[in-house]
Amino acid sequence: MKYNLSKIQKFISKNVEFFLLFTLIVFAIFSTQIYNFNKKNTMRNFINLTNNIYFQKSLEHIFNNLQPKYKIIEHTISKGESFNSILNSYKISNKEVKKINTALSKIKYSKRLRVNQVIKFKIDQTGDKKIVYLLYPVSKTKKIEITRDLEKNIFSNRELITNLNKRIVFKEGKITHSLYKTATNLEIPINLIIEFARVYGFQVDFQRDIRKNDSFQILYEVFEDDSKKIFETGNIIFADLILRDQSNSLYYFKDKKSEGHYDISGKSIKKALMKTPINGARLSSSFGMRKHPIDGFTKMHRGTDFAAPKGTPIMASGDGVIVRAKWCGGGGNCIKIKHNSTYSTVYAHMHKFAPGMSPGRRVKQGQVIGYVGSTGKSTGPHLHYEVIENGKRINSQTLKLPSGKILKGKDRELFEINRIKLDVLKSELILGLK
Ligand SMILES: [Zn+2]
Repeated sequence: MKYNLSKIQKFISKNVEFFLLFTLIVFAIFSTQIYNFNKKNTMRNFINLTNNIYFQKSLEHIFNNLQPKYKIIEHTISKGESFNSILNSYKISNKEVKKINTALSKIKYSKRLRVNQVIKFKIDQTGDKKIVYLLYPVSKTKKIEITRDLEKNIFSNRELITNLNKRIVFKEGKITHSLYKTATNLEIPINLIIEFARVYGFQVDFQRDIRKNDSFQILYEVFEDDSKKIFETGNIIFADLILRDQSNSLYYFKDKKSEGHYDISGKSIKKALMKTPINGARLSSSFGMRKHPIDGFTKMHRGTDFAAPKGTPIMASGDGVIVRAKWCGGGGNCIKIKHNSTYSTVYAHMHKFAPGMSPGRRVKQGQVIGYVGSTGKSTGPHLHYEVIENGKRINSQTLKLPSGKILKGKDRELFEINRIKLDVLKSELILGLK
């Protein structure tokens, strides 16, 4: 045994290189076996993973995201192009083009394309290219927007109005029945008639100051599309209310701080209190009023009445605080506003108060405080309006209040230039030069 062991030792030490090589080979074969076994496992796992639906989905997602889901195209139309040829040039299938044309056929406008117009569309690039949004120009100011709900495969469309053209309109008329009737006959938009009455409501008593054959002129802005359809109205830039041959012209002026209407000498129309604290445009004819049982300011009747349809909005005559808003016997539903230490105003016979009107509430000039009615001792729907000066009821018709702002210096200079421009513009429009 001793011999054998020493013999092996001898053999190993003699063939050390061979022995090391042999161990290395055995180790290599063994580790390759392990490696192969692991590799097979890894492969199997990998195949399992790739077959996994969630993995497939996320992979698809990653690849799709290399190309964004949506592509927005803004195509400027050049000569000779048709809607179909444009879509085809973006590799949209004929089937899809057909669908879009069906959606477009529901629109009643001319679909004639004009050179240099821009067609905008959004394509869903996943799978077959699908148009999900289209902005189709039908005129310089009108576009049709088509949106598609891909899930329900429904197209919806709406008109978009852009780049409206501003135009200045001149109108004049003689008041034969009422300002409102003349103005509506002249097709002046209703909101501008109301604005006209509001602007003059500071200085004119719409019930008593306007007589038969008085007249007015008005210059106002309108915003219209190519077919001259009005979409919006702008400012009244000039107005004149000619009462018994006396001109009362007003000019719109805008400076950095404020905007509004000024008289010919640069005085703001705004006063601390209004002469007509009601929508003047809706007042009943002033001419019939003299036959109305309710008379003017007398010893017996210490207020001013405005006959108007039930529900006509009543405005706070000036900024102030409500000191009374309740039933007050003969006055029916009435409101009293304290404006300052000198002036208060009362509004009676209201059908109802505007929401939130109660003592302590601050109100702004022109804010609606209630609506015309015939509550209390009243013969018909009207507003009974009282102005109280130092505790005494005074005649609102003869009340002279200082005007608000007077333009001075640079502002006045700018106002004068603007005023001359407006006068020239008015003359040009009257003469048909513009
Ligand atoms: Zn009265």
